[in-house]
Amino acid sequence: MVQDYHEFLAEVLISEEQLQHRIHELGEEISNDYKDEDQLLLVCILRGGVMFLTDLMRSIRHPHAIEFMAVSSYGVGRRETSGQTRITLDLNTDIQDKNVILVEDIIDSGFTLASVLEMLSLRKPRSLSVCTLLDKAERREVYVPLKYVGFTISNKFVFGYGLDIDDYYRNLPFVGVVDLARYKPAS
Ligand code: 5GP
Ligand code: MG
Ligand code: MG
Repeated sequence: MVQDYHEFLAEVLISEEQLQHRIHELGEEISNDYKDEDQLLLVCILRGGVMFLTDLMRSIRHPHAIEFMAVSSYGVGRRETSGQTRITLDLNTDIQDKNVILVEDIIDSGFTLASVLEMLSLRKPRSLSVCTLLDKAERREVYVPLKYVGFTISNKFVFGYGLDIDDYYRNLPFVGVVDLARYKPAS
């Protein structure tokens, strides 16, 4: 059985209304920043960035294309990442000369993003920037340039709005904090 999230929800950290409001602002900002640019491409990192991408793209007035990629990190624990990242699903598009915005759910240590940025920059995009919904700034272990940040949050494990706990709960329209003492992994 997969547990009902009400049983371990410590608090709603960011409500659906707060998310939608902020994402609309980000969309406006991106539309303005790229208004004189051609070939805008949003690259979503699966799977956590999916909800954010679909709302964000509706808020961007400037014409753009979308793409997806997936990476896997070899972590030290189930909820942490280490330095090693591998592309498990690559882009279908050549990004050379394109204005690429990487769309991410959350930046924690920064290791995943740093290695994705390194791999993509070798393909010579015209520009490469990052838009993340959440930033756990105090957890950063490696510098990563973040051009657009939805919310800076403290060091709590969050779920919902694309973010999973053991692959579930991505569908929730808000970002919640897990009470790990009350969370029971499905058996
Ligand atoms: P980083 O490489 O920056 O340490 O880790 C980024 C990845 O770790 C995110 O894309 C996400 O998959 C996962 N992650 C980090 N913090 C959280 C969190 O609070 N909740 C969830 N669900 N995933 C997280
Ligand atoms: Mg991610
Ligand atoms: Mg995850």
